[in-house]
Amino acid sequence: MRKLLRRIFLIDLIEGLAVTFRYQHPKYITTEQYPAERPKIAERYRGAPRLNNHPETGETLCIACNLCALACPENLIVVGSERNEQTRRKELTTFTYDTSRCMFCGLCEDACPVDALELTQDFELASYSREGAIWDRQMLEEGPRPSRYKY
Ligand code: SF4
Ligand code: SF4
Repeated sequence: MRKLLRRIFLIDLIEGLAVTFRYQHPKYITTEQYPAERPKIAERYRGAPRLNNHPETGETLCIACNLCALACPENLIVVGSERNEQTRRKELTTFTYDTSRCMFCGLCEDACPVDALELTQDFELASYSREGAIWDRQMLEEGPRPSRYKY
C-alpha cells in the first residue's frame, strides 16, 4: 500500500528533484566558470613561449646564439640573424616557434643563456588554422591576446 501511494503521489520523483535543486546552490558548483573566471595556474606551469625584451630599452634580450634551437628535440625553433658590421655582433632578425609541435619540455628555456626565451603561464594557444600555431618574432614578443569575455 505504501509503495502504491508513493507511486501515485510521485514521491520518488519529488525526492529526486529535491536533491537536484539542493545542489543548485553556488557553494556546490565545482565546474570552472571559464572564461568568465580564469583558473589558477600552477606556479611551475610551462605554457605559451615569450621572447623577452629589455624592460627599459625595449630591445630584445635575444643574442641570436641559436642555443634554444639546438636544444629543442623537435627542431621547431628557427632563429634568423645577421652580423652587424660595426659591432661585429650577431643581431636577431627573425624568430619562429611552432607551438603545434611543442611539448613544453622547457629545454629551450633552460638553454637560453640570457633568459630571453621563457615559457609563460599563458595557456590559451588555440588558433583557427595550422599557420596560426606558428608564432613569429612579433607574436613572441607581444604575447597572445586571447578574447576576454564579459558577462
Ligand atoms: S619546450 Fe621543448 S619542444 Fe617546445 S620548443 Fe622548447 S625545447 Fe622544443
Ligand atoms: S637561446 Fe636565448 S639568446 Fe639564444 S637564440 Fe635562443 S632565445 Fe635567443
